[in-house]
Amino acid sequence: MSRALLLSVLALPPLLLGAQDRAFIGATLVDGTGRPPVAGATVLVRNGRVVAAGAGVTIPAGAERVDLAGKFVMPGLVNAHGHVNTARELRTYAMYGTTTVFSLGGEAADVFEARRAQEIPTLDRSRVFVSGPVLAPNTPDEARTQVAGVVAQRVDFVKIRVDDNLGTVKKMPPEVYRAVIDEAHRRGSRVAAHLFYLGDAKSLLDAGADLVAHSIRDAEVDDAVIAQLKARNTCVVPTLMREVSTFVYESTPAWFDDPLFRMHPDRAQVAGLVDPTRQQAMRVSPVAQRYKAALEVASRNLKRLHDAGVPIAMGTDTGPAARFQGYFELMELELMAKAGLSPADVLASATRTAARCMGAERDLGTIEPGKWADFLVLDANPLTDISNVRKISSVWIAGNRVPR
Ligand SMILES: [Zn+2]
Repeated sequence: MSRALLLSVLALPPLLLGAQDRAFIGATLVDGTGRPPVAGATVLVRNGRVVAAGAGVTIPAGAERVDLAGKFVMPGLVNAHGHVNTARELRTYAMYGTTTVFSLGGEAADVFEARRAQEIPTLDRSRVFVSGPVLAPNTPDEARTQVAGVVAQRVDFVKIRVDDNLGTVKKMPPEVYRAVIDEAHRRGSRVAAHLFYLGDAKSLLDAGADLVAHSIRDAEVDDAVIAQLKARNTCVVPTLMREVSTFVYESTPAWFDDPLFRMHPDRAQVAGLVDPTRQQAMRVSPVAQRYKAALEVASRNLKRLHDAGVPIAMGTDTGPAARFQGYFELMELELMAKAGLSPADVLASATRTAARCMGAERDLGTIEPGKWADFLVLDANPLTDISNVRKISSVWIAGNRVPR
């Protein structure tokens, strides 16, 4: 070894010195690009990223081999709308196969720190992107000041809510959200909008909102809003499980007995949700019944928007109480299928499309050279039945096995 080369090796950080090629061998590869699955594929990973993926990959001498014969490999799930309250929750998302979460508001400081520290080849928990505090300005001037504040925190999205919570609170006025969107765009940031009503969706899209963070749920979508969405290829995040969480605990859900759900670390919350008094209150709650009806509207709108060619990014709004991070994402996939999307369409929505909608397609969303090696190993084919995503054999982030 030449002196110059020796010095350059010694200058590498210790993590890289220990890095080794890892070859995942023998699985059927569903790479997330939409190309047909490849049987007997190899995924070669170096320093956390995919070097090669497919058939006929040459495995370097000395590479660690991971035998995946009989398994299926697909990209890790990308959740376009979750909430990561504290960094510890990134382990929960990871063990259920959601390898990236776009947290749309309310993150603690350690989540910002987690985002800063995730571009490393040793990562073994989910990646996170942040929005900071959800903005609630009262005037256009306040709007501009608040946008400046979160942009200074280098948020990935600026988040606003335009909703009256079924007529119970004051809705952000149009002149205020127009100022938010204008100021965010002026500063090179994008705006994710929580909304409920078709009319607000139209007005927000007119104002230039970049992401529709929930379903339109008060009315069927019409040609006008479809045209608005398509004009700028604006993505919609259905968050169907958000609606489910508002009424499902009127009784004890069957999935509380699912062994996969029972892996969830948040057992204390489960204990509260089986309380009969609480369940009775939810049964008679008019709010719960209205959101139950809204889920049906949202499901029909998902199908209509998808058929019209509007990009749909999988998202759940998990993170608040009774919305179980990780497990709800798996249920969201099933609800999207139930709404009429094919397994391939649901899979794309939860991987490639979500990554693209959130501006992360350079690094995430498919298993292709150059991207982070974030993927799931399944015991069954997700393209046959999207519920097969539940059959997780292992989860890998940056090519590292996630503890579960
Ligand atoms: Zn949310």
